[in-house]
Amino acid sequence: VTLRGFCTRAAPLDFTQIQITRLPTVVILGRPNVGKSALFNRLIRRREALVYNTPDDHVTRDIREGVAKLGDLRFRVLDSAGLEAEASSGSILHRTASMTANVLARSNFALFLTDARAGVHPLDLEVGKWLRKHAPQIKPIVAMNKSESLFDANDSLATAANEICRLGFGDPIAISAETGLGMHELYVSLRPLLEDYMLRVLNDEGDHENSHDEDSSNLDVDKSKLPLQLAIVGRPNVGKSTLLNALLQEDRVLVGPEAGLTRDAIRTQFEFQGRTIYLVDTAGWLQRTKQEKGAASLSIMQSRKSLLRAHIIALVLDAEEIVNAKRSMKHAEVVIARRAVEEGRGLVVIVNKMDLLRGKHKSLSYEKVMEAVPQEIQTIIPQVTGIPVVFISALEGRGRSTVLNQVIDTYEKWCSRLPTARLNRWLQKVMSRHSWKDQAAQPKVKYFTQVKARPPTFVAFVRGKTQLSQTDIRFLTKSLKEDFDLGGIPIRIMQRSVT
Ligand code: GDP
Ligand code: GDP
Repeated sequence: VTLRGFCTRAAPLDFTQIQITRLPTVVILGRPNVGKSALFNRLIRRREALVYNTPDDHVTRDIREGVAKLGDLRFRVLDSAGLEAEASSGSILHRTASMTANVLARSNFALFLTDARAGVHPLDLEVGKWLRKHAPQIKPIVAMNKSESLFDANDSLATAANEICRLGFGDPIAISAETGLGMHELYVSLRPLLEDYMLRVLNDEGDHENSHDEDSSNLDVDKSKLPLQLAIVGRPNVGKSTLLNALLQEDRVLVGPEAGLTRDAIRTQFEFQGRTIYLVDTAGWLQRTKQEKGAASLSIMQSRKSLLRAHIIALVLDAEEIVNAKRSMKHAEVVIARRAVEEGRGLVVIVNKMDLLRGKHKSLSYEKVMEAVPQEIQTIIPQVTGIPVVFISALEGRGRSTVLNQVIDTYEKWCSRLPTARLNRWLQKVMSRHSWKDQAAQPKVKYFTQVKARPPTFVAFVRGKTQLSQTDIRFLTKSLKEDFDLGGIPIRIMQRSVT
């Protein structure tokens, strides 16, 4: 075990302060039985695994995701067991293989696990070949697992390492997932890679944050740099999994007859119109709501965490339940919707299962639901006008583009930046448009500027002691939304006194 990398960095990046969804993803690859799951479990320390229902003890057929903690390092880790599929046939294994390829394409780094005691197994060579073919951009870190018995005799460790070099991915590190030996070595290998990656990501975002152009006359909306983080939430059985399948358009969410396979593997990222969309904690939501079936509650603590990670919250409702209950939202849904807005997230309401209403219910028909739901939501969340509501049938496979276009539209508004010059021209007009009953009560807003996007946040600089009342703030908010097409997203206005 060598000790390096300690003295080189003055101010190490603090991974614990980085949002989980932004962390790099490391996938653990290897032939069966090298200890992928054992390592995964050690890294996540059995917390926060997004998967349950492993089909049996020896074969892990699913892909699990968790947040790895290794010293002060944090990263997302994927445990994939799909490679055995290459050699086998059969429906489960075949499908799992394509999923693994998928996961690989979406991983930033790979840990290639081998068995120190077994040397190079023919399947290790297969894995290597497969990795070069499917993800040439990923240079894996090779780790010899199960090294604990070789640590004492340095010779055998060196012999094993020499052998593993045949894989052609450089020097291996020796670890033991079971005993924890070599975890520091793993840390030292990963840290510079992950830190470089994070610094690049943070720099890109920094460029964006500083790039708003005072003179530009159009909305400065970020289109591509920042991946959209979407949370699909809702009570059990409203159709979240079905919708997910429609969104992903692939077999990444396996819905099939094989026991234990249905919801185990949830891809966390997909593309739509050249844009990357991350799904935030989706497996967690599905799992949780399944477990809480009957209780009809959404765990508030957990949901808050998920909400804070997401940019846009897509709240799925069940059209038939709306008809039966004669109201749009049950308590848990109201709580989530309000919280989403309070936390400054973009909210998109999805009314699913619209196919069930066709021709069936006379009292509250298709059209009535379409009319009633937006109105009720307006009453439930009066502070944000025009929260978008879309009506779909996930089962019929319709709704993918409806949902995603709305999500993206909301996201773009949420990212809007309005140049100060334009805002102040607007301010003059809007203040003269409004008549105050008492002239003396008219606030003297000297100037107005947007200090932040995501969600759009403004500061009104008010002269003297005349402060903006709640009514004034509502008026300005409403005007901003109308004049700059910012309806449906939370907007914040703060005020400062100037002399
Ligand atoms: P996977 O198929 O690659 O996910 O492998 P598992 O994590 O299921 O591990 C396969 C077997 O190797 C299990 O019996 C583990 O207990 C064992 N194993 C995993 N890591 C180690 C290790 O570091 N040392 C030893 N001796 N056994 C290990
Ligand atoms: P989840 O618990 O929110 O993930 O819900 P699921 O996706 O598992 O769906 C629950 C049930 O509703 C399943 O039987 C689905 O087939 C059904 N379902 C989902 N979407 C629709 C839809 O658009 N129309 C109809 N009629 N049924 C649907």
